[in-house]
Amino acid sequence: MNAAVDKVTVLDAMVIGAGVAGLYQLYNLRKMGLKVRAYDTATGVGGTWYWNRYPGARFDSQAEIYQYWFDEEMYKSWKPSERFPAQPETEEWLNYVADRHDLKKDIQFSTRISSAHYDETSQRWNVTTDSGERINTQFLIACCGMLSAPIENRFEGQSSFKGEIYLTGKWPKDATSLKGKKVAVIGTGATGIQVIQTIAPEVGNLTVFCRTPQYVIPMKNPKYSEEDWAYWCEKYNETKNKVLNTFAGFDYDFNEKSWAESTPEEREKVLETQWEGGSLSLWLASYPEIFFDEKIGEEVSEFVRKKMRARLGNDPELCNLLIPTADDYTFGTHRVPLETNYLEVYLRDNVRTVDCRDTPIQKFVPEGIQTSDGTIHDFDVIILATGFDAGSGALSRIDFQGRDNRSLKDQWQNEITTAMGLQVHGYPNLFTTGAPLAPSAALCNMTTCLQYQVNWITDCIDFALKNGKATVEVSQETQDAWVKHHDEVAAKTLVVKTDSWYMGSNVEGKPRRLLSYIGGVNTYHQKCDEIAENGYPGFDMT
Ligand code: NAP
Repeated sequence: MNAAVDKVTVLDAMVIGAGVAGLYQLYNLRKMGLKVRAYDTATGVGGTWYWNRYPGARFDSQAEIYQYWFDEEMYKSWKPSERFPAQPETEEWLNYVADRHDLKKDIQFSTRISSAHYDETSQRWNVTTDSGERINTQFLIACCGMLSAPIENRFEGQSSFKGEIYLTGKWPKDATSLKGKKVAVIGTGATGIQVIQTIAPEVGNLTVFCRTPQYVIPMKNPKYSEEDWAYWCEKYNETKNKVLNTFAGFDYDFNEKSWAESTPEEREKVLETQWEGGSLSLWLASYPEIFFDEKIGEEVSEFVRKKMRARLGNDPELCNLLIPTADDYTFGTHRVPLETNYLEVYLRDNVRTVDCRDTPIQKFVPEGIQTSDGTIHDFDVIILATGFDAGSGALSRIDFQGRDNRSLKDQWQNEITTAMGLQVHGYPNLFTTGAPLAPSAALCNMTTCLQYQVNWITDCIDFALKNGKATVEVSQETQDAWVKHHDEVAAKTLVVKTDSWYMGSNVEGKPRRLLSYIGGVNTYHQKCDEIAENGYPGFDMT
């Protein structure tokens, strides 16, 4: 047995993950004076922004809100280069945050957590890593990310392919150039769209395997000058306070006048203005009725379709392939991607498409991809932008065992439940961020929700310790009540009728439930605040 395996690291608190949430959680717990360490599989900080280094990766929350709020000086001194910075800049920013607060000294990289078992006698967690290292900790905070478990082996025969396969969610740092190559992209979600629009001019030939079309909005991404950033610095407090009090954690919110109160001209004006804005506001800050009312959803969908058709030169084949119809789903019930010249890619001579609705992918073969009609499509490189086992995936890949040896993975194979995405009954002192049943990635600007959750968890641990308590565990009743509320809100929306990762339907056998709370970030934070302000009723402390 080597020394590392022999040794047990004893901690007050352990953080899994060194992305946006993990870094901030580490900062907070260390500030509280706890002995805390974070662990991450990657060789550096960044989480999503470490792994998703595929061509074209960038966020679609504006730079002024994709931010931390705990260090005003830091906000003001990091000057984003544009409104929606790309992955390299965001990874750099997270390194800047980590270095500024000297966080890396308490992070162990290149370490995958394989199991975490709760010991009822000692009331502590025994954690193991893939190299056999052991950690014993009182509190365990899983900041594993909502979209961090990519689906890797979707297709039969993947290993037989003679060329290279790149998975967007694990894009290698040393990926070879795609210049002049025969490249396939599978997947036209937010990720696939970014890859496709970026690589099309560079590759020799691009074949896009399309299945479900998307309503897309052109991104407006101006460069930010010193003056632009000075403007946002002026508005620091206003923006900081605003983001937690909107539906989706952005600095914009729904139109004051409802759809019914507005004239057709007023509606058109709102939609046009939002469209021109080039952000997600057409989705998250136009009319909330698009989430509830099929007729209104269809009217807004048609508004978007018209714009898309014009860009495709009204080509019937392309429109059929790339524009969702009323039979597919209505605008906003699926994650809406922002894009730059994405549709125009399909007008290029070096781009062709395979409609997977007519000829699905059957398997991978040494030359490339075989579709159901028997055609073999030849490639040098195949890019899989095929999505994630969202919300529950990253946590289920760790063997969590709580009280009475219950297994989180087994439980979630039947039903995915949490209390506000913060705790699961039966797992004392285990806290989660970006977990199911909170308004995570699907319906929130991630930095808003993750910071809120980290603050809540930090305060809860602080409260327990100050009151001489060793454990915190949400009660079954509190969890059940949250799940009921979550489902009731979800059932009123159209989102539950649309298949996508939002509902877990992209993973075979995954129990169907809306993974993100759709009652609004504002409501979510008020409800969680109320619990904290009242001394955590429904959270048993011993
Ligand atoms: P996704 O939305 O789940 O898309 C996966 C794509 O792969 C879909 O087009 C899917 O088609 C396709 N696919 C899967 N299996 C297939 C098969 N057997 N044959 C053909 N096509 C297949 O995943 P994603 O694009 O990685 O996006 C996930 C989320 O990450 C986004 O919704 C967003 O929240 C986040 N994201 C954000 C940004 C940003 O901030 N800008 C960028 C990228 C990602 P079907 O739909 O037909 O299943």
